[in-house]
Amino acid sequence: MVSRRDKQVFIDDCYVGTTEIVPNKQWQEFDSHRAVYLENILNAPTTMAIIAMDLDFAISYYNQSAQRLFHFQSSDVDGRRLGEIPALGLSDANRFKELVATVKSSGECYYSLERVVLGSYRLIEAVVSGIYDHQQQLMGFILNAQDVTSRRLQQERSTRKAAEEQCLGVLLRLSLDNMDVETFLQQSLESLLKSIPWLNVLPKGAIFLTEQHEQKKTLRMAAKYQLNKAVEASCNQIAFGYCVCGRVALQKELLFIADTHDNRHEVQYSGMEPHGHYSVPLLLSNDLLGVLTLYLPPGHGEKESDKAFLRRIADVLSIGISKRQTESALEYEAQYDGLTTLPNRNQIILHIDRALARARRHGHIGAVMFIDLDHFKNINDSLGHNIGDEVLRQVSRRLVDTLRKEDMVARLGGDEFVVLLSEEGFNPRTVAQQAQLVAEKIRDAVSQTYVVSSYLLNVTPSIGIALFPENNETTTEVLQQADTAMYRAKAEGRNCTRFFLPVMQMLANERLTVEQDLRWALDEGKYQLYYQPQVDSVGSIVGAEVLLRCPGRDGNFNRIDLCIDVAESTGLILPIGEWILREACQKLKYWSDNGIAKSLQHLCINISPKQFLQRDFVSLVQRVINETNVDAQRIVLEITESSLIDAKMDAIETMKALKELGIRVAMDDFGTGYSSLSYITQLPLDILKIDRSFVSGISHDHKNAAVVEALMAMARQLDLYLIAEGVETSEDLEFLVQKGCKYFQGFHFSRPQSVNEFTAYMERHS
Ligand code: C2E
Ligand code: CA
Ligand code: CA
Repeated sequence: MVSRRDKQVFIDDCYVGTTEIVPNKQWQEFDSHRAVYLENILNAPTTMAIIAMDLDFAISYYNQSAQRLFHFQSSDVDGRRLGEIPALGLSDANRFKELVATVKSSGECYYSLERVVLGSYRLIEAVVSGIYDHQQQLMGFILNAQDVTSRRLQQERSTRKAAEEQCLGVLLRLSLDNMDVETFLQQSLESLLKSIPWLNVLPKGAIFLTEQHEQKKTLRMAAKYQLNKAVEASCNQIAFGYCVCGRVALQKELLFIADTHDNRHEVQYSGMEPHGHYSVPLLLSNDLLGVLTLYLPPGHGEKESDKAFLRRIADVLSIGISKRQTESALEYEAQYDGLTTLPNRNQIILHIDRALARARRHGHIGAVMFIDLDHFKNINDSLGHNIGDEVLRQVSRRLVDTLRKEDMVARLGGDEFVVLLSEEGFNPRTVAQQAQLVAEKIRDAVSQTYVVSSYLLNVTPSIGIALFPENNETTTEVLQQADTAMYRAKAEGRNCTRFFLPVMQMLANERLTVEQDLRWALDEGKYQLYYQPQVDSVGSIVGAEVLLRCPGRDGNFNRIDLCIDVAESTGLILPIGEWILREACQKLKYWSDNGIAKSLQHLCINISPKQFLQRDFVSLVQRVINETNVDAQRIVLEITESSLIDAKMDAIETMKALKELGIRVAMDDFGTGYSSLSYITQLPLDILKIDRSFVSGISHDHKNAAVVEALMAMARQLDLYLIAEGVETSEDLEFLVQKGCKYFQGFHFSRPQSVNEFTAYMERHS
């Protein structure tokens, strides 16, 4: 109890109990009505409860507010002393004695009491103080009291609000901190349970995370605080829909249960103490990330304010979980291949880096294997990407199963995989043997038939192996070496394994030089076109094939097949091809205009697959023809089967569009591809060029003779113009003429000639 003397207010000889002072003069004017006036003031509804007492604390007066506040009848108080009225909260003798002593010594005494009035809880604050006459003689006591319930509630509410905000603030900071999701949840749970006394929960709880196992979702306990061992065991994984937390997960709604007799509390164990729960879903835009469950003492009521707070807590926890899940998804994406879940390029590079460093330090030798699936494109193209993807997934599973735990396999992209065998031994020969063994196992595993949807598919791998460390090579160089070796495996028939050898490095360097030469020649206008005559059986010129020549910076011609290959793979073929087309058309126009090319019925221009597949290829051809004003009837474009395979149906459209321009199309190297004859017959072709591999030496080769005869029969049936390429001897020519072949190209007649040589040749032969 507290005492204070300084608040007493007297006017004349009367204690008014208010701080509003009325001037004396006015008082006297109202003197006659004083008693009535005072009575009205004392009984005004806003006046606080007043009970006046004599020196013996016997009640002498009380106002209506007092009666309302303490809820007593006049019979309860009349003639009684303050300590004898239970409603006033001082019926405890000691308490009353203490109050009397304090009032007497200090002039006043404050106390508070709690009451349930008409079923509702009230908090009352009261002060008992002395009343004095003019001579400062104590003449009695007065009790002032008021109901402070709502003020106190207001105070409590704002204190709680501040505490809630502080608790949320702590959790928000944790949610943004750098820690894994489990640590975050554990720290959040502990911090929560220690800082929310107003919720009056038991210091026990758990947080679960949603987990997906194939088609089934479950909750996994990710954080726990002071749980019983039996709970830890039975609630470690909870099925959606089971018990309190499982129900919350399913319904995505906060659930309160008052006690464990609730039949939704399905988990029961011996020694379980009675408790209730608040279980809250952790949601992120209606996706369930997890569940927070808190333990309540039995008898804990369900409160809207608790639930509102817990929902906010859940929001903060959800933010923290989702932030981490996004981060780990990004991290995963940066390290793993989405399709096969194998490590990706970044990961394997990192591991090769480390393996290289370790190998140098300890003298180990390791191996990197580059695996590429043969003709995988066909599966994608003909059966669709879904089937292709499934094959890749199965391939990666087989790779993983074939390798030892310490080896690593990654997918670089497409149908390319890399295997790292890091510490194989100290002797290059044994390491190479080991690696070869592993490669054979891989080849065996990968080559087994795949069952995808209703298809039975066969895929073989080409494998390149590079050992490391050799010299001072970097990871990229090691990978390149394995890649180069893989290309050799492809070149040597596929479905085999090849090792990287220094000579292969030379070839790789050669390609690089050629690429530089190609760019240089393009910039400097150094390309040349050679022309190889095509003749009839008596040797009269009917046409010519245009062949590119590319000088290197050293002044010598580069190998043209290599040039075309490099130009194709670098995309340089497009500008080069356009130049060839324009240059050839200009020359033809020049010869025609000058009466040189009278017998030249056509000029064959080679078109690479990449050019042919360009969307605007036809319009480019049209533009060049218009620009050069050449006679389109005399232009033949030679395409190869690979252009057709890659373009599928579009090829037919392109060919038709070319024919509309008046241009003819020839199938080059006919007989070397794998297209079905029925497909070839559907194509709007004009000319077939039988590949020289069938033609050269045909007079001694029965097999080739049979093939050429069949091809010629087909050409006749389809009404196609047929040219035999690579005629090198008069025997070959004779043989072909005998079989009915009409047109020829080959060294027997002429090698490809420079523009000047060819111009002179035509002048001689026209
Ligand atoms: P191709 O289109 O099959 O060209 C015919 C090749 O056979 C030419 O080789 C030619 O010189 C050669 N040849 C002609 N008659 C005989 C013979 O009797 N015996 C032998 N052994 N060879 C003969 P070249 O000029 O080295 O061209 C090789 C390949 O390079 C061409 O094969 C073609 O695929 C490509 N190529 C050449 N020029 C161009 C071009 O301007 N554009 C495109 N896209 N490719 C070209
Ligand atoms: Ca050709
Ligand atoms: Ca050819």
